[in-house]
Amino acid sequence: MQDFAPDQIVVRCAHFIGGEYIDVSAGLMDVLRPSDGVAYAGLPVADAALVDRAVENAWQAWRGSNWASQAPRDRARIMRRWADLIDADVGVLAPMEAVGSTRPIRDAVQWDVPFTAEGIRFFAELADKHGGDVAATSQHQLGMTITEPYGVIGAIAPWNFPMVMASWKVAPALAAGNAVVLKPSEMTPFTVLRLAELAIQAGMPPGIFNVIQGDGRTTGDSLCRHPKISKVTFTGSTATGAAIMRACAESGTKPVTLELGGKSPQIVFADAPDLKKTARTVAGAITGNAGQVCVAGSRLLVQRGVAGELIAGIVQAFQALQPGPTWHAATTLPPIISKGQADRIDGIVQRTEAAGAQVITGGKLLGNGGAYYLPTILSGVTPGMEAVHSEIFGPVLTVQEFDDEAGALALAAHPDYGLAAGVHTSDIGRALRMARKLEAGTVWINRYGRTSDFMIPTGGYKRSGIGKDLGRQAFEANLRVKSVLIEIGE
Ligand code: NAD
Repeated sequence: MQDFAPDQIVVRCAHFIGGEYIDVSAGLMDVLRPSDGVAYAGLPVADAALVDRAVENAWQAWRGSNWASQAPRDRARIMRRWADLIDADVGVLAPMEAVGSTRPIRDAVQWDVPFTAEGIRFFAELADKHGGDVAATSQHQLGMTITEPYGVIGAIAPWNFPMVMASWKVAPALAAGNAVVLKPSEMTPFTVLRLAELAIQAGMPPGIFNVIQGDGRTTGDSLCRHPKISKVTFTGSTATGAAIMRACAESGTKPVTLELGGKSPQIVFADAPDLKKTARTVAGAITGNAGQVCVAGSRLLVQRGVAGELIAGIVQAFQALQPGPTWHAATTLPPIISKGQADRIDGIVQRTEAAGAQVITGGKLLGNGGAYYLPTILSGVTPGMEAVHSEIFGPVLTVQEFDDEAGALALAAHPDYGLAAGVHTSDIGRALRMARKLEAGTVWINRYGRTSDFMIPTGGYKRSGIGKDLGRQAFEANLRVKSVLIEIGE
């Protein structure tokens, strides 16, 4: 893998509506490269009129094309071709994603692009594996259910994995026969335009997949409130999720899928299978994408007696990381998305330290254009402290010790979040007891994080979300169920 020069990446400052780029040259907001803070492109901000144009266009395309009515296998064939085109486009997509986001080029090539393509294939393959039920409800009556797409689905995505997160919203909606209007994050708006262009090349009817650019308050809110949006699927923060739910309630009681924030514990028992390997896993779960991951394992809960050895292993893993710009092939610790977010992380660490915590390692912002935050461990913390309670969205790990399973569960419970948890133990009974008792949407045992588990859904308990991404559950959530009851006579 080679380093590359970021200036060679040129993007189109555009929306994508009705199968075409709508280039915009005035009224653009600066879009910065997270790695060096340089403004490299401009963001058009779709107002209510442009949102209306995109949704109307999608509605007409959905009604006028055969996207929803064709055999699901035919839809699936187009989506599989789309996935193949994405794989083949890695040379364009990966550097574009790396320059515009916090994804290092190596990860973008090896994970983001192929994972996006494979997710689309997964949902394409579900398109014709799902039908309704038929039941003889009495001797002279038959009942059946038919599943049908909603129409136009509004999708709103975050910045942390721009392509992958967008694909988890868009692919199941399209595979189920809907049209989609996607609003990516204003901080990472460009790679999804290329995905939309490739969808057209794959044979998707124009207008079925559209991208509108803009901020949350103007563009996102107008999208949620548009009367022809039948459902909204969202990934982002818990506060925004609540605002979206409110907008959807006020504009037509629209259903929502919400994938929101977390504050996930990694629980390490003294009988963890291999403490050195566990230390590397714990470190990876808080430093991947510099901790800017919804399921980041941000709270280490460790059984008394092994904390010292475990923390030494984590510090060693932290020290092996290479901070740097996303266009360097050697980078393993990418920047924080923005200077403002890095300052926010630093503020939480400093205030928690002032409240009595100790910084074991890190706790420093490295700035030279981009904002890099050194992986940080905070010990001597208590549940009420800000770094233990708040989603930091950076490489900051708090450490608390426990004596037994009950103690671990008490610390693991967060009043608001329930997105994910990890358990490390050699005792299968204990692992399963913990998995059953933890209030989290995903529990990893002796591992942490998602690789290729498309079959298994992801999504939070409590204020971490409503509904699931991935799995057949995500596909089914994009379908409505119609019941048909038939009198067939004696
Ligand atoms: P964010 O909530 O600030 O923004 C997400 C998206 O919502 C952006 O596109 C933004 O423009 C839009 N938005 C903002 N206000 C809006 C409004 N009022 N109406 C409509 N749209 C609006 O989140 P972010 O900072 O981009 O992403 C980080 C957050 O996302 C973290 O909290 C993280 O945990 C969460 N996240 C969750 C998952 C998951 O699967 N649970 C995955 C990735 C990220």
